[in-house]
Amino acid sequence: MSQATARIMICGFCAREFEEDRAQTACGSCLLNGGCRWARCPHCGYENPESPRWMDRLATWVDRHAR
Ligand SMILES: [Zn+2]
Repeated sequence: MSQATARIMICGFCAREFEEDRAQTACGSCLLNGGCRWARCPHCGYENPESPRWMDRLATWVDRHAR
């Protein structure tokens, strides 16, 4: 079984996919380091609130409307 270590998130601003790991790494300089649960997009720098529900809905929406 191949289990993914990083969760794939979709930026709410640029709608690009990125690994949650990268987002947290990018947030290393955050003043709220340790308590910050926001995922900064490595593509555009937008900080996404961690909210799996709308994330899944957005992913579905993007998948349907991408083409
Ligand atoms: Zn982004």
